[in-house]
Amino acid sequence: MSERKVRVRFAPSPTGALHIGGVRTALYNYLFARQHGGELVFRIEDTDSHRFVPGAEEYILESFRWLGIQFDEGVSFGGSHGPYRQSERRDIYKEYVKQLLDAGKAYYAFDTPEELERKRTEVQNFQYDASTRQQMRNSLTMERSEWEALIADGAQFTVRFKVEPGQEIHVNDMIRGDVRVKSDILDDKVLYKSADELPTYHLANIVDDHLMEITHVIRGEEWLPSAPLHVLLYQAFGWDDTMPRFAHLPLLLKPEGKGKLSKRDGDRLGFPVFPLEWHDPKTGEVSSGYRESGYFPEAVVNFLALLGWNPGTEQELFSLDELVETFDITKCSKSGAKFDYQKGIWFNHEYMLRKSDDEIAREFAAIVANNGVDETFERVKLVVHLMKDRVSFVKELWPLCSFFFIAPTDYDEKTVKKRWKAFSGQQMAELADVLQGIDDFSIEGQEPVVMKWVEDKGYKLGDVMNAFRLALVGVGKGPGMFDISAFLGKEETICRLKRAIEALPKGE
Ligand code: GLU
Repeated sequence: MSERKVRVRFAPSPTGALHIGGVRTALYNYLFARQHGGELVFRIEDTDSHRFVPGAEEYILESFRWLGIQFDEGVSFGGSHGPYRQSERRDIYKEYVKQLLDAGKAYYAFDTPEELERKRTEVQNFQYDASTRQQMRNSLTMERSEWEALIADGAQFTVRFKVEPGQEIHVNDMIRGDVRVKSDILDDKVLYKSADELPTYHLANIVDDHLMEITHVIRGEEWLPSAPLHVLLYQAFGWDDTMPRFAHLPLLLKPEGKGKLSKRDGDRLGFPVFPLEWHDPKTGEVSSGYRESGYFPEAVVNFLALLGWNPGTEQELFSLDELVETFDITKCSKSGAKFDYQKGIWFNHEYMLRKSDDEIAREFAAIVANNGVDETFERVKLVVHLMKDRVSFVKELWPLCSFFFIAPTDYDEKTVKKRWKAFSGQQMAELADVLQGIDDFSIEGQEPVVMKWVEDKGYKLGDVMNAFRLALVGVGKGPGMFDISAFLGKEETICRLKRAIEALPKGE
């Protein structure tokens, strides 16, 4: 059994945008598959037709393309275990439902929704199981001829799994260890509904995991309560030998307070809970995505990898390949992981610093052009080089850097009050003359000449530089002054100095 090739799957239901927790599940499956030389299957679990949302499948695929998480097999990837969309596997499931019925491990139930509802109001905590199934209308309580006639007449029915009480079920979980559950607490779950001729999630999930030769089931903690039933189903089919090992991943929790991370937390605190922007086809509502918010896919992957797992060292920055090397599913935490979205921003900043100026400049050049500025790529790149350590997102560059490309037309009032002294106009006029006389306008060409002039005149360096900055930038912050003047060039620098002298208070 241990020689089986590792095969894992990511099996979303196409019910809307993929939640960021689902992305983490897929990532962990991917890492596990890669590190074991195994395969990752992409399966679509769409047996609940009421919850189907058009566009969701394409959205999910696009999310993983963006993140660089690759599948080996499945919907849109092909493979020898298809079809990979459950709605295209109806006949397969029917066969397996029949197998359980023939073996007496499942039975037909004819109780109508109304009858079940009545029972629930009559009996507190009613559960359809060994203790109650004798009181219900099913093939265990009816004569064979009677229920066969019902089916022949086209009566609606469900097929229920017959859970035998008194057993201890072991769920072999790589994170949680040997989880034991008494079969008595389980109900006789519906496996199939005649109404839509479709199996329920549980049956389809197990049959597919078996047929697709899945060796490890890595999924969210919300599926842990289903796991004992899944174990029983594997046993009922006689597939014990190929029972997958489970790993139920810790929940993603709200950034503050208690409970599960929700879309509302994102709306309230201003961070996305979806990988890509999502346009809800029913409501028209648009939800923000990590991609459109300006996150780098590598940063999102790194951030998610560390939500629920840590390497046990100080290292925080991991490429996808390093994660494949280091990730260890057995070291995932059992308790929920707080969704620290600020940490996500920090990761983006760290990736920004590590990316080449070229790469950032390519993105930023488009923003510069959109703002109506015609600049060479080399000059855009120089600005990126000077400024990228100050931001976490490329989109934050423009408001901070626009002064490189567009001269300020107004000057920050507070800075003017504080930094533009009575003598500043005079000093800047002199500085303009000094700069005019410099031939080599590089940083190295300007700096010693300006410094010497400041010293000779006995001016305070701070006074000069603050006024210089205000004139060139319009505010009191920015990179080194000579970085700026060298970038602007002699003509533009002097032009800005003169404009400031005109526009700002004259003194006396
Ligand atoms: N279709 C389930 C989901 O949407 C899959 C759960 C599982 O991985 O077994 O998450």
